[in-house]
Amino acid sequence: MVKSIQELLAQLPAVDILLKRPAIEQLATEYPRGAVKAAIQEVLGNIRREVLQQIRQDLPELPTIEQMITEELIQHQFSLRRVINGTGTVIHTNLGRSSLSKRVQQQVEDISFHYSNLEFDLESGERGSRYSHLTEIIKELTGAEDVLVVNNNAAAVLLVLSTLIKGQEVLVSRGELVEIGGAFRIPDVVTSSGGKIVEVGTTNKTHLNDYQQAVNEETGGILKVHTSNYRIVGFTESVPIPELAKLADHTAIPLINDLGSGLFIDMRQFGLPYEPTVKEALDQGCDIVTFSGDKLLGGPQAGIIVGKKKYIQQMKKNQLLRALRIDKMTLSALEATFELYLDPTQAIQEIPVLRMLSLTEEDCLRKATILAEKLEKNTNDLTITVEKDASAVGGGSYPEHSLPTYVVSIYSDVISAETLQQKLRESRMPIISRIKNQKNYLDVRTIEDEEFAFITSAIRTLA
Ligand SMILES: *Cc1c(COP(=O)(O)O)cnc(C)c1O
Repeated sequence: MVKSIQELLAQLPAVDILLKRPAIEQLATEYPRGAVKAAIQEVLGNIRREVLQQIRQDLPELPTIEQMITEELIQHQFSLRRVINGTGTVIHTNLGRSSLSKRVQQQVEDISFHYSNLEFDLESGERGSRYSHLTEIIKELTGAEDVLVVNNNAAAVLLVLSTLIKGQEVLVSRGELVEIGGAFRIPDVVTSSGGKIVEVGTTNKTHLNDYQQAVNEETGGILKVHTSNYRIVGFTESVPIPELAKLADHTAIPLINDLGSGLFIDMRQFGLPYEPTVKEALDQGCDIVTFSGDKLLGGPQAGIIVGKKKYIQQMKKNQLLRALRIDKMTLSALEATFELYLDPTQAIQEIPVLRMLSLTEEDCLRKATILAEKLEKNTNDLTITVEKDASAVGGGSYPEHSLPTYVVSIYSDVISAETLQQKLRESRMPIISRIKNQKNYLDVRTIEDEEFAFITSAIRTLA
């Protein structure tokens, strides 16, 4: 007997029922849950349409529907995909630098999926400024007079120089004429902003009087650059910020400090050496400080400029700002990230970059042991061991410091380490490992506990 359209539609399984089926539950360990749900809805929608159009006179069996959902998921891979970072490098530029705190999710959603007061003053009902939203919180966290945010820190440095230096000279220590990566070279940035670089001191040593002698009526500012990804060691000297600040003050030129990462908490608590926070850099007398949103701050990609109001006001009038402007999604994530810093303990718990850095050797051993046990249960062909190793901070920060960690190492005597690494990379949820001693290392410092299931599933498939 041929069933009616209504009968067929009524028999179509519900999304919730499908989600509970073992085959679909398995998929949910390999793909983001949202993607699984979307694939189910897509497949059910197609079947419903075919029934309504009478292309279909009966429903496919449940296993067939499950197969259709799997195919739908495989077909619909985005180019930009989530991966598991097993490298142990916390701020991994190739893997998207820092991942955002779950605490910012709601705010980003609210702002992105609805209208907002992005450039609208709710009090006066008149046009407002998108840059005003961060002013109060940054003032509170750093004591800065004003703030401006742009696309990334490279853009921040470009805007600062092209506003304050423009056609004039800027003094930079020879030891700080660095290349950061991705073709960001300080001498080139100065040139493209229309300024002229005046190198002071030598590669390893720069003294205050090197700066003093270079100041003339053409000088538009002093630029201090964090050397980030490299260090000069041995017979070295640079001028402390307070001394440079005095000179800048005395000669009425701005002291600009490109901090790179921009800290808001003391990193010594994680066993890393002291570096000044943004607040400390301002307290020491910097007029302008710039830093990245997605390095140690642990927020979205952005460049943040803080400092004296009179200088930032000029930057706000620079035409270039329009081309470097930050979008509302980023702005909302950034504000919500800064909110977390109002309580530093909460920031360390809730911001992934800080949470990962705060893991002790014992924490890592515990995590690695749990992961190794899960993996061992799912394989007979691979040798799984827990080993001591070292993680890197990354993102150009603390290049010569590592953090003690534990890794889960995977070894196969059938396939090479390189082949195994590629197979891990080609898992449904790509897993990025590091090869050492012919083994694949998964550093648990950068792997979230809830990602263990993806790894177990990939290993099961491999075995
Ligand atoms: C990383 C870095 C930059 C570039 O910042 P982006 O946010 O990647 O554009 C500039 N200066 C320094 C000192 C840096 O460390």
